[in-house]
Amino acid sequence: MKAIAVIPGRADSIHLADVPSPSVDDIPEGRGVLVEVVRVGVDGTDKEINAAEYGAAPEGDDYLVIGHESFGRVAEIGSNVPDSLAPGTFVVATVRRPGHSLYDRIGMQDMTTDDVYYERGINLLHGYLTERYVEDEAFVVPLPEVLCDVGVLLEPLSVAEKGINQAWEIQRRLRVWQPRRAAVLGSGTIGLLAVLALRLRGLEVTCYSLPQAPYLNSELVETLGATYLSSQDSTLAQASERRGPFDLIFEATGFSPIAFEAAAALGKNGVLVLSSVTGGDRTSEVPTDRINQGFVLGNKVMVGTVNASRADFERGVDDLLKAEVRFPGWLSRLLTTSIAGLERYDEMIERLTNDADAIKVYVEVSP
Ligand code: BGC
Ligand code: ZN
Repeated sequence: MKAIAVIPGRADSIHLADVPSPSVDDIPEGRGVLVEVVRVGVDGTDKEINAAEYGAAPEGDDYLVIGHESFGRVAEIGSNVPDSLAPGTFVVATVRRPGHSLYDRIGMQDMTTDDVYYERGINLLHGYLTERYVEDEAFVVPLPEVLCDVGVLLEPLSVAEKGINQAWEIQRRLRVWQPRRAAVLGSGTIGLLAVLALRLRGLEVTCYSLPQAPYLNSELVETLGATYLSSQDSTLAQASERRGPFDLIFEATGFSPIAFEAAAALGKNGVLVLSSVTGGDRTSEVPTDRINQGFVLGNKVMVGTVNASRADFERGVDDLLKAEVRFPGWLSRLLTTSIAGLERYDEMIERLTNDADAIKVYVEVSP
């Protein structure tokens, strides 16, 4: 069957590969779920894997099938798979698989302390940009049929959900934490979905991002009843004077210096969530005394977040449903850029690299 693959370590090696078809029996003890891929979203991670910045092939193979934002339909299940995953069900598979640390052994592989991590479509495991995949039912999340047009947004949403859920977990230390104002830094897919998740939790949200309004992303922010501010019009400190103090800041710009501006701007007892995977080696000068003192005297927290647990995916399903009710049509406006079939991998990379207006680029694998 067809798949989009790279040769890890070789830049621009993306190609259409012919790979073996999976079978439901590849997974032991009747726990296999064979899934027909419907569509797969792509993001900066796929671009960086094709640029050979990271990504490794599974043991025994010299290629890696990419794609980690899956959406598909169950084709066949093993004898021990629950009815909630019956053939025909729409599903999204999670990304990270257990390694060896204590966290991995209790199903918290998104919190692994291992140096090597296993992520489908990213590192050491094949991904979903192919016609079919098979997976253990433990890693397959069902979605109701009403979400069939927007379900491909679940994996990126799970990344925002994890960061936000981590913030709530941490803030139980405050016993009566009632966050009112949040800032989301960045207006890409993760930033927009973080604005959504925070609005659904009832917060006043400011989205702070580089481009000047109006454009599609700023309109999407305003449709949610949030405020959009451009970093070309105000500093983050000014934004916090106008719209803060921020009880929660969610960083998703990919630009690491802003994490420290955010640390300086964070409100008392606030929590700063960092979600950008910044692979470069940028440096910048930081007012350390001021930030440190603000953290000490203001009891503030800064936390990093990567990937997501199954529970984050499940909360994501709930939020997708709520979003369709409260903001009908909003989610599908994120699906700006459809690529017609696995054969168009060149166009996929081209759009990811050069289309500044694209929000979510995704491949239609089968109708
Ligand atoms: C994916 C996450 C993953 C992270 C690090 C992101 O693009 O959405 O699931 O954990 O990359 O590899
Ligand atoms: Zn991703």
